[in-house]
Order: sequence, then C-alpha cells, then structure tokens
Amino acid sequence: MLTRVGVKMIILKIGGSIITEKDSKEPKVDYKNLNRICNEIKESFSTENINADLMDGLVIVHGAGSFGHPPASEYKIGQPFPNEEFPEKRIGFAKTQSAVKELNTYVCNALIEHGLPAVSMQVSSFVTTSDKRIYDFDLEFIKNYLNNGFIPVLYGDPVLDEKYKMAILSGDQILQYIARFLVSDRVVLGTDVDGVYDKNPKTHDDAKLIEEVSSIEEIIQVESTTNIDVTGGMVGKVNELLSLAEIGVDSEIINANRPGAIGDALQNKKVKGTKITKK
Ligand code: ADP
Repeated sequence: MLTRVGVKMIILKIGGSIITEKDSKEPKVDYKNLNRICNEIKESFSTENINADLMDGLVIVHGAGSFGHPPASEYKIGQPFPNEEFPEKRIGFAKTQSAVKELNTYVCNALIEHGLPAVSMQVSSFVTTSDKRIYDFDLEFIKNYLNNGFIPVLYGDPVLDEKYKMAILSGDQILQYIARFLVSDRVVLGTDVDGVYDKNPKTHDDAKLIEEVSSIEEIIQVESTTNIDVTGGMVGKVNELLSLAEIGVDSEIINANRPGAIGDALQNKKVKGTKITKK
C-alpha cells in the first residue's frame, strides 16, 4: 500500500560521477562539485521556498563513485561464489561498506557545513535484498526524519541478499523504492551527462539527447550503454525510473556538472535533460 509522508517531497539523487573523481584509482571526493551542489540545495531549501510551497521535504541519495566501485568490483560483490570463498567475500563486503560510509561522511559533513540538517542512513544496517531487489526496507525512520524537518541522506551500499548472500544496492534502486512507497512529488537525478542519449555521449560525438523516455522499447533501442559500473550504468537508472513512471511518478535526469542545474530543478525551473514519464 502506498503511504505518503505529510510533506511535499523531492528526492534528489547525486551520482557518484559528480561527487567523486570516478575514474580515479584512489577514492577521491570532488569537493568543488560537492560544495557547489550543497550551495544550490541550501538556496533551494530556504524558508522562502518552503513558504512558496515548492518543497517541504528533501531526501538525498548519492552514489559510490571512486569510493565503492573499486572494492566492489575487486571482490566481485553481487556475483555468485562458492562457499569456500565466503571468508574473502566478507572482507570485500566490509571494505566496500567502509568505503561508501566514508564518502557519506564527507557528503553529510558538507551539507551540515552549509546549514542543512543532513542525517545519514546506512541501508546495509536495515535493508536486505532478494535476487538483488529490495524486499525488506522499513521506511518509518525516513518518514519520521522528514516529518521532523531533517534531510535523510542514503547511499549505494552492499547489503545481504537472500539468493547471492550479498549484493550491491545501487543508489538508483534506493531512490526508486523510496519514491514509490513514500510517494514522492518529484524525483531528480543528477549525473555527469545531460540525460539519456541514443548512444553513450562520452564515446560518440554524434549522440543525440532523448528529451523524453516513456517505454522500455525506447531504452532497448539505446545503442550503447557501455559505461556500465557494478550497478548497471545508465540502463539501470532508466529501468528504475521507468518503473516509477508506470505508477505515475515522473522523474528527470539532468547534468549536475552544470552549475545551477540542481538548484533550478529543485525549484521546479525548466532544466535541460531527459524526462522519464508515462505516455
Ligand atoms: P552516476 O555515477 O552519475 O550515477 P553512471 O556513471 O553510473 O552515473 O552513469 C552515467 C554514465 O552513463 C555517463 O557518464 C555516460 O558515459 C554513460 N552512458 C552510457 N550510455 C549512455 C547513454 N545512452 N546515455 C547517457 N549516458 C550513457
């Protein structure tokens, strides 16, 4: 059953590609982007905007970037493994959990320094998956924090999985689940390209931006999604968002590298990007 928090709620996902130097071999925060985005959130989340009925509640979900992906892929977390490898896998899980927690601390600290009441929520301590999909996620905590004016901050995390013993729960799936069951008013995904293209824009100069996506067929036609990280890259994102569109929750993918884009999106101004919506 769908439940609503008692506030007008926006869910903002900030990609790991934005807040970290994603291709770096070492975990590295992109402080320039992080601080700029904190400023944009701060400006949008001002009392003035609350009064203007733009936004009462904000949930932030962030990706793992160069913090989570190296240990997760080194230890192949989420792939099937024989029982004798369990001890080593546990170390990989713990290393990944520790790395993403560290990034989350930097993100929350930056938000707090900007005067935003960010509270960290580590999904590996209360969410489990079955075949890599969430099936047990108590949203009451998030609701309570929202109703008390906090900004819950969640992030992609390794979790226990019924089938594979462990899995990587992507920020994109977390966002989808929260938006679905708390019934979000708006969902904004900030990544490092302008939206969904007909080809990977990083490798194809002639890639064209698709302004609106409304069916899985359009996604299947997307020629290249080669930049696939351990959580599925752009196709994974769009699939999550399409399942939201199905139940009437629209979302938009925008370029968080563009100064002002997140702020504008939070304030409901038109921003270049891809809208995921039901036709
Ligand atoms: P984030 O870390 O922001 O969540 P990802 O790195 O997982 O983002 O996914 C964004 C990347 O997906 C882009 O940098 C782009 O290179 C890649 N990509 C692959 N195929 C496409 C496509 N068809 N349209 C847009 N981006 C694509």
